[in-house]
Amino acid sequence: MHELSIATAIVEQAGEIARADGAGGVSSVTVRVGELAGVVPDALHFAFEVARDGTALAAARLVVEQVPGRAWCGECAEEFAVGMPPFFWCPRCDRPSRELRSGRELEITGVQS
Ligand SMILES: [Zn+2]
Repeated sequence: MHELSIATAIVEQAGEIARADGAGGVSSVTVRVGELAGVVPDALHFAFEVARDGTALAAARLVVEQVPGRAWCGECAEEFAVGMPPFFWCPRCDRPSRELRSGRELEITGVQS
């Protein structure tokens, strides 16, 4: 379960951000997770509960903002949803496009003390 290593990294990074801000504890952490990032939100929530144990984030809540996978078609200047599993084919001009605009995010966007 690679969500556990991701959750551990989130706990470590959020802890560092809180320390740099001089915060004693963390009440919640917000992360952006792309549809194509290969992370299952439910598994991430579960892993976070394991990873936060005994840290400054022991009482913290994990907020997951999901980002849909979207690609760009240069032929007709159209952005389209690739879905899951991703299908990189422009629905407008019927051509393949692999120019991904969003969906691979995996980042901390907020740490609340
Ligand atoms: Zn197109």
